[in-house]
Amino acid sequence: MYKYNNFYKKNFIFKIIENDIKNKKYRLIRTRFPPEPNGYLHIGHIKSICLNFTIAKFYKGKFFLRIDDTNPSTENIKYIEYIKKDLIWLGFKWDENIKYTSNYFNLMYEYAIELINKNLAYVDELDIENIRNYRGTLSIPGKNSPYRNRSIKDNLELFENMRLGKFSEGSLSLRAKIDMQSKIIVMRDPVLYRIKFQKHHQTNKKWFIYPTYDFSHCISDSIEGITHSLCTLEFQDNKVLYNWILNNISIKNHPKQYEFSKLNIEYGITSKRNINILIKNKIVSGWDDPRLLTISGLRRKGYTSSSLKNFCYSIGVTKQNNIIEMSFLESCIKSELNKSAPRTMAILRPLKIIIDNFPFKKKIKLLIPNHPNNKNMGYKNIYFTKEIYIDILDFSEIEKENYKRLILGFKVKLRYSFVIKAKKIIKDKNNNIICIHCIYYKDSLGIKINKKKEIKGIIHWISCLYSEPANFYLYDNLFIKKNINYDDNILKFLNKKSLLIYKGFIEKNLLKNNKNKHFQFEREGYFYFDKKYSNKNKIVFNRILSLKKNDK
Ligand code: ATP
Ligand code: MG
Repeated sequence: MYKYNNFYKKNFIFKIIENDIKNKKYRLIRTRFPPEPNGYLHIGHIKSICLNFTIAKFYKGKFFLRIDDTNPSTENIKYIEYIKKDLIWLGFKWDENIKYTSNYFNLMYEYAIELINKNLAYVDELDIENIRNYRGTLSIPGKNSPYRNRSIKDNLELFENMRLGKFSEGSLSLRAKIDMQSKIIVMRDPVLYRIKFQKHHQTNKKWFIYPTYDFSHCISDSIEGITHSLCTLEFQDNKVLYNWILNNISIKNHPKQYEFSKLNIEYGITSKRNINILIKNKIVSGWDDPRLLTISGLRRKGYTSSSLKNFCYSIGVTKQNNIIEMSFLESCIKSELNKSAPRTMAILRPLKIIIDNFPFKKKIKLLIPNHPNNKNMGYKNIYFTKEIYIDILDFSEIEKENYKRLILGFKVKLRYSFVIKAKKIIKDKNNNIICIHCIYYKDSLGIKINKKKEIKGIIHWISCLYSEPANFYLYDNLFIKKNINYDDNILKFLNKKSLLIYKGFIEKNLLKNNKNKHFQFEREGYFYFDKKYSNKNKIVFNRILSLKKNDK
């Protein structure tokens, strides 16, 4: 169950809406999620969708998915499919058809003409660099463009010719005529339209000019009857412009913009631009690399949609910029899998054990629970045989303090099975261990570890005969710096060991015998079957999280 209650109580935006409803300001609450189709969605977007979707559902209003497609040079139609897929997987179904900002291009063009006619917009010939230079800074006021005072007639004609594709990209732009001295830099004659010759995935070659975010966003919100336009804090200043545009064109609805803080997670990035840098530099394998905080990456790693939603509902929505610990995200999936994932033994770093006093052809059937704390999850058989694997980290040639595993000359208990004692090590000529010869104690099944510490501890194991090979992908944070999102050079802080691959063994037919694809491999962690990298001849498991302290 989601922690809706806390979410409502804590959330300042709900309070605003609650008030609006009390004052009968709106008949129907409408919210939207407006992604730009220039990459896959990430966990930050889930926070925004959770907020917008839940508000609409709670107040029996509407929630729209709007593809914010005003920049054909960075967009790709394939991203729209992935956006839809992610929303559906999360269980956030949008109302009505998908909306596109490009649906409103005709209307936007009309509104731009209205601004020109009111002498509130002009065609500028400054290029991007000069527009920036003339804009000034927080301490230096801007300067008027020399093209600011053209006649309305000239502006109309130039804008029309921009639309017809008669000017080259970057040569002209349409700008609002506001105030180059404004304290709010966004208000220093912002660009409303720019020329782009790129073919658009929805409107094809119809347009040579495209509205900017600032011009299109408020108009799209208004056309769709959005009541509360929720965005992240960096758009705080843009709100003044949002209102200026809606106040100066003849449009009916005037939605209100409210800002909340972006989601940041320690050691991870939640920005499509930065994720793109990692993909281009081949640091990750693609948008769905399990190390990324993209929805598709997290899904592949083994996160469930409910765990991600629970996470977003638990962190709440505020105006304070903060950074959430990775361990908090992990705790959300852990608490779920702790209950639902069957336990099984798998060996990541195999070391062969030969039981000298156990006959070759013999096998002993052991009935073990699928979950030690939930008998309802049933039991299964595993087999004890002459050759078994244990983890290489569970063996030591020499005695070490507090080492509760197998030591040469000492005893250890195999989980759900017998006590064994290590007798002899077989090594190759390079001194690498090939296998360990042990003996087993026939009557030791089910005995408790004694106080004298004669038996060092309990370790996991798997029968060689009843196992099959598997690859284990162990992930760690991509970065060594906690707050990486706002760094200019993210590549400087890469964790070189963010992926380790082990070739080991799982129980034979584990996947055939289980509907579940999430498992707890005892003493190792929670793992999820990777559909993408697995095939007929290869099984790949992704580690969602480790059970060991200090081992990510
Ligand atoms: P990015 O930097 O990743 O491209 P963006 O804000 O440009 O982020 P959009 O596709 O434009 O991405 O975002 C769609 C919506 O998701 C916007 O309303 C935006 O405010 C919100 N959003 C984006 N990133 C986050 C985040 N980290 N936390 C919360 N909301 C976010
Ligand atoms: Mg963006």
